[in-house]
Amino acid sequence: MTLKLQNACKSFRGTQVVHSISLAVDPGEFVVFVGPSGCGKSTILRMVAGLERITSGRLVIGDTDVTDMPPSQRGIAMVFQSYALYPHMSVYDNIAFSLRIAKLHKDEIKAKVTAAAESLQLTEYLDRLPKALSGGQRQRVAIGRAIVRNPKVFLFDEPLSNLDAALRTDMRAELAALHAKLQSTMIYVTHDQVEAMTLADRIVVMNSGRVEQVGKPMELYLAPQTPFVAEFIGSPKMNLIGGALAAEHGGDVVGIRPEDVQVNPAPVRGHDRQAADIRFPAAIERIEKLGADTLIYADAAAHGRLLARAAGAFDNTAAAVTLSLPLSKIHIFKDNKRVNKQGA
Ligand code: ADP
Ligand code: MG
Repeated sequence: MTLKLQNACKSFRGTQVVHSISLAVDPGEFVVFVGPSGCGKSTILRMVAGLERITSGRLVIGDTDVTDMPPSQRGIAMVFQSYALYPHMSVYDNIAFSLRIAKLHKDEIKAKVTAAAESLQLTEYLDRLPKALSGGQRQRVAIGRAIVRNPKVFLFDEPLSNLDAALRTDMRAELAALHAKLQSTMIYVTHDQVEAMTLADRIVVMNSGRVEQVGKPMELYLAPQTPFVAEFIGSPKMNLIGGALAAEHGGDVVGIRPEDVQVNPAPVRGHDRQAADIRFPAAIERIEKLGADTLIYADAAAHGRLLARAAGAFDNTAAAVTLSLPLSKIHIFKDNKRVNKQGA
């Protein structure tokens, strides 16, 4: 079912924290809202769930305007970072809870809980209390509780943030698999651009309560429309260079991703205007060998400090190098907007 936010705004006691969000989420789509802490992600999710009143604007699910509908009637299930499990109830009872409230028949409850537990690999833990589970298992119980309600839309608020790095990677894969299997509409919020890139059909990048850009993960990576998106998507973040170099290319900022910066041993003076790249001398300040790749921190005088990422080992020991920025890889921004052509 399509979910539409139409000019949705939220203010808390006169302070506006969500500024006119409009977005149509397609049936079965996995949409990820990503942005730094405090940018309004949880507030938007709570507005969709009905846990916060929408100050102005509308929310439509399918053909129904649900703006003023209570949470229980919206057909939505939400999974929180904190799991919010009942500590005195077994896994079975936690998953069954909402079905009992809805007064489903015992056999039907059993069938639904068993099926959800099966799909989340929780079958052998159904009799345990939450405290006897790992973080990842608890989060799976919270997801199971959402699944049995067969919601029209799943909402996830940073569900993996409490897990350690290895578990987060596993759970990310499980969530992707779950979405592929259920084919339900999912809206997911996170501050982690890696989760956004790996899970989303479409990403909504948020900054201070406003939408910066909406697009497929690789669209955002290849053609960020603002310097904020350019820096937020991709790791390590994009280098931004101002000053004369930017002006020469028609912008106030030129961006280049660390993986697109080439480090060549021989120093050069100035740069050749006919070339297919921008070249300038730099001094290497620090090298970090990560194994699969190497991070090279360079000081390029008037152009500022740049980070380059080279695949594999990087054995150059010369302090003076030439950085080369292919023109096909640079991103030009002016007045906070992208000015070069899409993907160029
Ligand atoms: P995020 O989830 O992106 O970290 P939130 O949606 O939680 O951000 O918060 C967005 C902004 O709204 C923050 O500035 C936060 O302080 C403010 N805010 C959230 N909830 C309330 C509330 N109940 N009362 C007042 N301000 C709030
Ligand atoms: Mg939040």
